[in-house]
Amino acid sequence: MQELKPNKKPIIIYWIIAMVLFMMVNGFMYKKFVNQQTEEVGYNVFMQMIDSKDIGEASIQDNQILFTNKAGTKTYKTGIVNDAELYERLYNSGATFGAEIIEQSNPIWSYIISFVIQIVLIVVAWRIISKLLLKKMGDSPDMMSFGTGGMGMGKSNARVYVKSDTGIKFKDVAGEEEAKDLLKEIVEYLHEPQKYTEIGAVLPKGALLVGPPGTGKTLLAKAVAGEANVPFFSISGSEFVQMFVGMGAAKVRDLFKQAKDKAPCIVFIDEIDAIGKKRDGQISSNDEREQTLNQLLTEMDGFEGNNGVVILAATNRPESLDPALLRPGRFDRRVPVELPDLKGRVDILKVHAKKVRCSDNVDFDGIAKAASGASGAQLANIVNEGALRAVREGRRSVTQADLMESVEVVIAGYQKKNKILSNKEKLVVAYHEVGHALVAAMQTQSAPVQKITIIPRTSGALGYTMQVEDGEHFLMTKTEILNKIATYTGGRAAEELIFSEITTGASNDIEQATKLARAMVSRYGMSEEFDMVALETLTNQYLGGDTSLACSAETQTKIDKMVVSVVTEQHEKAKKILQENIQKLHEISKYLYEHETITGEEFMNILSSEENTLLS
Ligand code: ADP
Ligand code: MG
Ligand code: ZN
Repeated sequence: MQELKPNKKPIIIYWIIAMVLFMMVNGFMYKKFVNQQTEEVGYNVFMQMIDSKDIGEASIQDNQILFTNKAGTKTYKTGIVNDAELYERLYNSGATFGAEIIEQSNPIWSYIISFVIQIVLIVVAWRIISKLLLKKMGDSPDMMSFGTGGMGMGKSNARVYVKSDTGIKFKDVAGEEEAKDLLKEIVEYLHEPQKYTEIGAVLPKGALLVGPPGTGKTLLAKAVAGEANVPFFSISGSEFVQMFVGMGAAKVRDLFKQAKDKAPCIVFIDEIDAIGKKRDGQISSNDEREQTLNQLLTEMDGFEGNNGVVILAATNRPESLDPALLRPGRFDRRVPVELPDLKGRVDILKVHAKKVRCSDNVDFDGIAKAASGASGAQLANIVNEGALRAVREGRRSVTQADLMESVEVVIAGYQKKNKILSNKEKLVVAYHEVGHALVAAMQTQSAPVQKITIIPRTSGALGYTMQVEDGEHFLMTKTEILNKIATYTGGRAAEELIFSEITTGASNDIEQATKLARAMVSRYGMSEEFDMVALETLTNQYLGGDTSLACSAETQTKIDKMVVSVVTEQHEKAKKILQENIQKLHEISKYLYEHETITGEEFMNILSSEENTLLS
């Protein structure tokens, strides 16, 4: 999307044109009023001119004689003298008699008129120039105020974007095919409205893009701007909410007024939850926001379906939006922009990899698998981190290893350079991580281990075990969840088994295991006692997934007990698995301690070779 380029012709040209015009008119005026004014001369001059036959026209009046020179370029006047032969002499000199010589205004008047005209000219010129200037300011994206006059208060700061060849297009947005299809239709409608009106289809007034952060909502809106041949107003919800009450509403009004003038066009309101929050009737509620929202609702109702103003909005908190905003006739289209699936991730990686120099053998599929659950923004970041790493290491192109490392950077932060762990601690971490990996490997329905590392990361992780699913999973079975919980407890189980002591290193594992166990009981209906009853509801789907309880205190107590029993059961299972494989636990942990990072392949090799020795 290219912001509208201000007209390159500089203001100075307008000034020069204005000055030249001004000087020309001024010169003309001077000639007319100063040079050409009637000159009062003595009678003797009149006589001399008659003698030299230099009189063009003459008019003898009661108390004066007006006359011009032969060429008629100058007017003179002189007094009446008792001169009997005047008529005859004038006649002989070839002058014509006329009454129509008009006495030109006297010098003072001409000066005043000339002065007034100059002032008028200056004012007119100033007006025209300032209008041009303001128009430019309005169109130019780096100037704040839109429109004219005032201090720009209450003016919407919406910027106009127009189609351009360098802008973002739909092809720059990878994955998200459904969202793209819905938006393409809107663009098409704006291009060829008659195709739709013929059938009687009405253009949806608004479309709401909802999804987690970084999934490309803003990017999609920019792509719409890039594809549409129509003006594109873009404003962020927070820009409406200002210090002064009433300003937000004024901004909304102004924005829509401008949009209607430019229709067909698209108005994009990013982060609409800033103004579109539910009106909850609390006394402490934000009056300003409410007024702004009301104005927005009014404006969205205020125009007819087919006048060509389409409103796009984006949010990652759809549940907090006012229901009035979501009813049909306002945002009647809801476009989900979800986290990308495996194919989507591969496509997004490829789109961004085009911008960097990649070596030929990069396996995007593998990276996309490792980056499961990553958003588009994170994937873009992964590619960029990979490129930075390549430069840091003095390579000329990005390799698979660069990208794999940057997946970890994005998930867990950078490697810590300084040795921060004592040897004892390092050993504990090694056993802990191998504990996770072994429990995972010994269960049938869990993802293969891809990598184990005990190099601390800036995120605070002292080490981690990376498991990568083979394909894409949309459902999780009960067994899979239980296995996952067992894997989480595997780290602590190894510590207990080997050191007969436990550490704080398992805090994140505990959190994750508890979350899963709790969801099993309260949301997935996976406990015998509660059957398919929702005891908790998700409140913040796209931002972290907070839940709120919806049950009595007794039930809550029961839930807690069940969660404890689920986790304990899996913890016991993990301990049992490790006990049975304690030989391998020792061997792999020793190897990991020495190498600090081992791949899934190395892990499996040690695991299977030992299995063979045990069998033989
Ligand atoms: P949000 O949904 O939070 O508005 P953005 O649209 O701002 O996310 O996305 C941030 C960045 O992430 C984009 O500028 C782009 O580089 C990258 N990105 C996100 N989704 C995609 C996608 N589907 N295809 C390509 N790049 C994407
Ligand atoms: Mg955004
Ligand atoms: Zn752990």
